[in-house]
Amino acid sequence: MRTTFLPFSPPYISREEIDEVVDTLSSNWITTGPKTKIFESEFAEFLGAESALALNSCTAGLHLALVVSGVGSGDEVITTPMTFCSTVNVIEHVGACPVLVDVEPDTLNISPHLIESVITPRTRAILPVHYTGHPCKMDAIMTIAKEHRLFIIEDAAHALPAQFKGQMIGSIGDLTAFSFYATKNITTAEGGMLTGNQELIEKARGLSLHGMNRDAWKRYDRGGSWYYEVEYPGFKYNMTDIQASIGLQQLKKLDRFQQRRSEIVSRYNDAFSECPYFEIPVEQTYVKHSWHLYVLRLNLETLKINRDQFIEELKDMNIGTSVHFIPIHRHSYYRKKYGFKQEDFPVADSNFLRMLSLPLYPKMSDQDIEDVIEAVLDVAEKYKR
Ligand SMILES: *Cc1c(COP(=O)(O)O)cnc(C)c1O
Repeated sequence: MRTTFLPFSPPYISREEIDEVVDTLSSNWITTGPKTKIFESEFAEFLGAESALALNSCTAGLHLALVVSGVGSGDEVITTPMTFCSTVNVIEHVGACPVLVDVEPDTLNISPHLIESVITPRTRAILPVHYTGHPCKMDAIMTIAKEHRLFIIEDAAHALPAQFKGQMIGSIGDLTAFSFYATKNITTAEGGMLTGNQELIEKARGLSLHGMNRDAWKRYDRGGSWYYEVEYPGFKYNMTDIQASIGLQQLKKLDRFQQRRSEIVSRYNDAFSECPYFEIPVEQTYVKHSWHLYVLRLNLETLKINRDQFIEELKDMNIGTSVHFIPIHRHSYYRKKYGFKQEDFPVADSNFLRMLSLPLYPKMSDQDIEDVIEAVLDVAEKYKR
């Protein structure tokens, strides 16, 4: 057994990020400026996206995406219960109503055939979440959106870099939001990026800095002007050049990071696929998975302990894990406001009860991987039925 605790998801920061941040701190420009611009263009180029806007979070990106799509009071947005709360919180922020539909049993992504059944005249947008980094069925979702004239706003917090049928996530829907939170595939500590159509991105750009017009971030520079007008009461969502410095260097390492993530996943799959206690995650043939998370599902009928106890046992063996996610319909605000019940989303709910996320990050050593495998197998053997 390990003698030190293996954290669930530490960042991978090295000399390059530190040097780039120091370079920015030593310059005259530390907030939104030249490095943010470079980060936006390199990110857009990497994805083949028309345009990109750097922000202080993915949540900010999702919020702005709803605002510039004109989603507002009384509108409905269709999304999944199997996501982080911020996906749905932003729908509340614009006064719209989240309409949840259940997920598919294999990928735990939103089920396209359930989307059609909840469309009403008030539906304005579909908000698919590429859960764990496995892309949703974007062709089916695009067809529905076209037919009913709905916006597609993608939550790609996990999906960097991921592909659906050869197309990069971030270059498909109307607007796509990425996260650079500390645990995500690349990080800026806190941060996010919104990609999509140039006109919508430019609208979002204005709103991300108080709704001021012109290139307001330049107003203290020689080339800038002191004059601006507020065209809409915007938000304070801009990314700083300090964050962008970290992001620029992380983006350069993304291919290497992905290589390592894939190796870890292969190792886990080899170790767990033949065990009766587990269901391993899937990667459909038509996608490229970004492997943000490795969600192992327990076959509870083969074990004498439940998921929560399994996690405690792993913690006692110095292995950090997590659960992604407590589904939206179980959170008290949403339960009370919309009267959601567990049986409304049987696939999401039953899978929530049997899932845990194992450590998966490029910094893991081969020994760390073996430690996780050994601990997971030990717990299962000890408590098998
Ligand atoms: C992390 C995450 C977010 C929020 O990202 P932030 O950058 O922290 O705002 C949104 N959706 C999902 C699915 C996430 O995992």
